Amino acid sequence: MREVMIQFLQRNLLRWFDENGRDFPWRDPTASKYRQILSEILLQRTRAGTVARYYTCFFEKYPDWEALSRATIEELEEVMRPLGLYRHRARRLYKLGQGIKRRHGRVPESSGELADSGFAGLYVINAYELFVLRGRRPLLDVNMSRVLKRYFNAGEFMDVRHDKAVQALANDIVEVRRCKELNWAILDFAALVCTRRAPACGTCTLSPRCLYRQRGQERGQEREASR
Ligand code: SF4
Repeated sequence: MREVMIQFLQRNLLRWFDENGRDFPWRDPTASKYRQILSEILLQRTRAGTVARYYTCFFEKYPDWEALSRATIEELEEVMRPLGLYRHRARRLYKLGQGIKRRHGRVPESSGELADSGFAGLYVINAYELFVLRGRRPLLDVNMSRVLKRYFNAGEFMDVRHDKAVQALANDIVEVRRCKELNWAILDFAALVCTRRAPACGTCTLSPRCLYRQRGQERGQEREASR
């Protein structure tokens, strides 16, 4: 049953993405790996549209690893201020820049090398493995978690860092040839269809198998019957 649900999700979300996926500069096939990874750090807990507006300005100031490794933490805080969470983001970027500096500009070339590189946090490490090392990894954040939790009826929402059930689901669903596109599909789908407050279940491509949707219909039928 789980395998059938996984395949249904992969097939339908990739099809949905081909018709509805959003264009962002970091998704451009010509975007460097540096830009793809740094964009993922900027995207954490921030709307993609906000990052898109800030994208050119940031990469003009820090066009490559070398420029990032020269930045001071004060400077990064100042640059990050318009995006919010600026202290947190500045610390992350600084740590990353210093990690690359210690490695004399050489970026990690294997999963094993990531540990010592300044790349921190499950999300960023997964992004690096996905975009640079071409591994099949999920960009698991609160939005991907919401879609998976609903679709698979996988229990209460909790911090994704401690949620083993959703981590296992996320790892299973990205076992697909178009892994990068599937990740983007889920992020776009979470922003446009399976939204936090008002999921558009009535027109959703996943609704025939979505357990959240089925439970909602059952609850509606019970209410009808008790009137
Ligand atoms: S049917 Fe509703 S809850 Fe289920 S995936 Fe679609 S929008 Fe989300």
